[in-house]
Amino acid sequence: MNDTFGRTVDYLRISITDRCNERCLYCMPEGYKGWERRQDHLTADEIIRAVRVAAELGFRKFRLTGGEPLVRGDILEIVQGMRKISGVEVIGLSTNGIKLAGLAQPLRDAGTNTVNLSLDALDPRVYRQVTGGDVNAVIAGIRAAVAAGFDRVKLNCVLMRGVNEQELWPLVLFAAEHRLPLRLIELMPLTRTDVLTEKNFLPVGEVMRLLGQRDELIPQPEVKIGHGPAKYYLLKQTGALVGFVGALTNLQFCESCNKMRLTADGKIRPCLGNHGEIDLREALRHHSDDTPLRQLFLEALRLKPQEHQFRDLYQPLRPMTAIGG
Ligand code: SAM
Ligand code: SF4
Repeated sequence: MNDTFGRTVDYLRISITDRCNERCLYCMPEGYKGWERRQDHLTADEIIRAVRVAAELGFRKFRLTGGEPLVRGDILEIVQGMRKISGVEVIGLSTNGIKLAGLAQPLRDAGTNTVNLSLDALDPRVYRQVTGGDVNAVIAGIRAAVAAGFDRVKLNCVLMRGVNEQELWPLVLFAAEHRLPLRLIELMPLTRTDVLTEKNFLPVGEVMRLLGQRDELIPQPEVKIGHGPAKYYLLKQTGALVGFVGALTNLQFCESCNKMRLTADGKIRPCLGNHGEIDLREALRHHSDDTPLRQLFLEALRLKPQEHQFRDLYQPLRPMTAIGG
């Protein structure tokens, strides 16, 4: 499917729950109360049907995310259902890793291809400060994911000045040791208005300079790991492969956007940084024929904006966890 700006859109990220077992500073603040009603979340059958329609239209890559997708008890059923759909080439999963140690192999066996793991710090104290969770559980999850033989396991770290700058070099060494690509992601104004301030924003350009003081960064323009917008560099001495996601400072960021989102409550969201959404849930619940569903996906494609509004005093209306990270 091509959008109005000539971009091929074939990647659907699906939030399967807005619930989470962590409380990351930049995503879901402690004391958060805005939970969606469970009956408003799409059921496993509804998600699988939406994926089937999307695959018929040309979507090929899918990612289950949230919230924390592994807190949903029917995650294996969802993956198994998606795996049977013709046209579904890649099923990815984004997780904080807390519950991954026990689920990595069943997820792999169910047909999951790739796993992205969030890891914002290695120091247990800093990790807990950022997420509220236990880094040792995540590290056990990473080991289990590597052992389970996914096509790819990738690490994601959100950059926060004054919070996890000191953790970046240990993370690079960890990524090199385990031969896992590490993506460093600029903070975006999601969920809360106060999450992104001049004080805590750490641009990828500055991080490249910081890492460049310790190792030589060799650009890898041909490296494309997954379907995201990261620009990869090989660190010459350590051998780490590090991707930089400059969502705010890279002005070409949206030019190659290939994705849309499906929110936990069944809205198609053409762009993370734009409030436009199209309701799919009503059609899923009230039409047995797929034609209206196809039309809604096509309408969402027409609505996909040229670029996000994060640089324009964007005010988040819905939490990131419901939209799907
Ligand atoms: N719970 C899973 C996890 O943490 O990986 C999946 C959902 S989470 C919302 C997906 C990704 O969004 C994570 O890599 C997280 O770090 C990122 N994220 C959340 N809030 C963000 C923000 N304000 N700016 C940048 N990235 C953010
Ligand atoms: Fe939960 Fe992931 Fe958001 Fe952290 S980033 S609060 S782990 S959904």
